[in-house]
Amino acid sequence: MDGQYLPISEAKISVLDYGFLHSDATYDVVHVWEGAFFRLDDHLDRFFAGLDKLHMSIPYDKKQVTDILRNCVALSGLKNAYVEFICTRGTSPTFSRDPRDAVNRFIAFAIPFGSVANPEQLKHGLHAAITPLQRIPPQSVDPTVKNYHWLDLVKGLYAAFEVGADTAMLVDAEGNVSEGPGFNIFAVTDGKVLTPKYGVLRGITRQTIFDICHTLGIACLAGDLSPAKLKQADEVFVTSTAGGVMPVTKIDAEPMGRGLPGPLTGQITERYWGMHRDDKYRLLVEYPATT
Ligand code: PLP
Repeated sequence: MDGQYLPISEAKISVLDYGFLHSDATYDVVHVWEGAFFRLDDHLDRFFAGLDKLHMSIPYDKKQVTDILRNCVALSGLKNAYVEFICTRGTSPTFSRDPRDAVNRFIAFAIPFGSVANPEQLKHGLHAAITPLQRIPPQSVDPTVKNYHWLDLVKGLYAAFEVGADTAMLVDAEGNVSEGPGFNIFAVTDGKVLTPKYGVLRGITRQTIFDICHTLGIACLAGDLSPAKLKQADEVFVTSTAGGVMPVTKIDAEPMGRGLPGPLTGQITERYWGMHRDDKYRLLVEYPATT
């Protein structure tokens, strides 16, 4: 933060930062697994594209951000880490309300790896509730720019907890399934994989699923996914950098398939973690000799 590495408890921003006041920010999250970043270049591409779309700039290029993230993780000593990097609109020295006057701020941090699903849920599957809540429409907030407009997702979580579910799935303006708090959604029907196309973040894990399916010779498409189609699927899973590929075994009151994580979900999950050992996708962290 501000060109310094510091303990996370000391990393603080001004209450006047528009990132805080207006959610005027973009960010990305990459993970480090067994001492290596996974698909960092893809996360950087998404982040820098977001900066452009929001008219923001930072005084670093992709190589410099890579160095900062590597240093952050190395200093934390974490072998499995959740690494977030953020650009906020920042503050305007004159308190002007014109976003062009604000000085953008870059922050990056590394904390222990976290997952949408806990170990029990990873083993037995998540219980998701499809809420009637509509995800913020893409005409309002571009979902391909990773953002903190989460009030709909948080509202969804409370609605899910009320019916005893673990997490929520939101819909789009047409009533099709979109995404959930921090994850993309996939359905497997008759050996074919389908994920929502519109109004969702183009998750890096989602892209990895496309890649894995391509290698396995499995059809994987982005298109409309109605709640009915999702509930009739043979298998359902959700994906996030925070957790990878996570099975869903119950939607609303109905168990999916036999109520167990599906075989294709298992195969894809294995491939996903296997790719973490492939030099094509990983970038090693160089830890100080003492850690
Ligand atoms: N959708 C939303 C709204 C998210 O916040 C996230 C990740 O945090 C995802 C999807 C999954 O994206 P990725 O696979 O890049 O982590």
